[in-house]
Amino acid sequence: MNHTEKPSDICAHLGDEYDRYLGAIVPPLFQNSLFTCKRQNHGYAYSRVANPTIEILEEKLAALEHAQAARVFSSGIGAITATISSLLQSGDHVISLRSAYYPVTEFLQNEMSKFGVESDFLENFSREELEKAVKPNTKLIYFESPSSNIFKILPIREIGAFAKERGIATAMDNTWATPLYQNPLDLGVDYTIHSATKYLGGHSDVIAGVVAGSKEKMDALRVNERAHWGACIDPFAAWLLIRSLRTLEVRMERHSRNAQQVARFFQAHPKVRRVYYPGLESHEEHELAKHQMRGFSGLISFVLNADKERSMQFVKNLEIFQEGPSWGGFESVVNTPGITSLAEVTRFEGVPDGLIRMSVGLEDAQSLIEDIAQALERL
Ligand SMILES: *Cc1c(COP(=O)(O)O)cnc(C)c1O
Repeated sequence: MNHTEKPSDICAHLGDEYDRYLGAIVPPLFQNSLFTCKRQNHGYAYSRVANPTIEILEEKLAALEHAQAARVFSSGIGAITATISSLLQSGDHVISLRSAYYPVTEFLQNEMSKFGVESDFLENFSREELEKAVKPNTKLIYFESPSSNIFKILPIREIGAFAKERGIATAMDNTWATPLYQNPLDLGVDYTIHSATKYLGGHSDVIAGVVAGSKEKMDALRVNERAHWGACIDPFAAWLLIRSLRTLEVRMERHSRNAQQVARFFQAHPKVRRVYYPGLESHEEHELAKHQMRGFSGLISFVLNADKERSMQFVKNLEIFQEGPSWGGFESVVNTPGITSLAEVTRFEGVPDGLIRMSVGLEDAQSLIEDIAQALERL
C-alpha cells in the first residue's frame, strides 16, 4: 500500500492542486451554477453535471471505496434511487432485503412498481433463499450489510458471486461500515452506496449521498441519472464533506471505541434483554462480520427487559443522548424504531418490539455510560 492508498492520506490530500488554486491549503468552493466558455474551453459548463469542488470530493470517495470512480448526489436516497432506476426497465424484477432502509423498500413498492418493475424482499439472502427468489427477469440484487436497525450481516462475497453467475447487477448500501471498515467492490459487488449524511459528513450539518464503482457505470450515472433525475449535490455541501473527510479516520476510531464500551455495558446490564452490535463476540454473525469488515462503527441497537412504555421512559431519562432519527454525527442520539414505528413496518423489517437504536457520538465514553446507567437506574 503506498501513501495515496491510505485512507487518512486520501482524506487529507488526494485532489490537492496547490498550483491551480493559488496555494490555497483548503481547496476552493466553486459555488457557481454555470461556467462561461467564452475565453477558455475548460470542459465545465453547468454544476448539475460537473463542478471542480464536487470532483475533488468524488476523487477522494472513489479512492476510499477502491473504485475507479464515484458520483455524489444531493442525498443518500438520491444516490440509491438513481442507481436503482438506472438499472431497470418495465418488466424487470428486483430482489431486495426486508431490513433495508425502509424508504428504499417504499421506493421499490410504491414508485418502481408504477413503471412495471416488480420486487421481492428476502430476510437472509442465503443461497437457498436467493435461488428460490431469482427469476429470468431479475436484473438487480439490492442489499445492506450490516442492515438497518438490526444489523444483520449478509455474506457479501457469496451474493456477489451468485449474481455474477447469472448476469445480475448488485448494489449494496455500505453506510453503516463506512469505506474505512468495509469495501463491497473488493467482495464482488458492482455498486457501493453511502448516505454521506451519516459518518462521511459526521457533523449533522449536511445531507448527501455517494455511489462508487467502475468508471463506465459512474459515467452513465452522472450523465443519465444525475443530469436527468436531478439529485445533484450543491457545491457547498460537497465542500463541507471534503472538510468532514479530513477527520473521518480519527472520528471513526472514537465512535468505534465508544460504541464497544457502551455495547459491553448494555450486554452486562440485567435490565437489558438483547444487544445488536456486530462488534460483540456474542452477535450471531460476528465471525462473518470480522471476515468481511475491518472495524465496527458507532451504531447499536438493544431491547430492554421492559414494555414499550417503560422503554420510552428510559429514552426520556437520558440527558446527553438526544432523541431523533439520523445517526453518524458527532453527537449521541437515540431513535425508537421498535416503539414508535408503525407495527406493519417493524413486522416487515423484522424489528423486534421495543427496539431502541443508539448512535454513539464523540463525547467522553465514561460520561455516556454514566448517562445510560442513571437512565436505567430510574426505570
Ligand atoms: C439515512 C440512510 C439512508 C438515506 O440517506 P439520506 O442521506 O438521508 O437520503 C440510506 N441508507 C441508510 C442505511 C441510511 O441510514
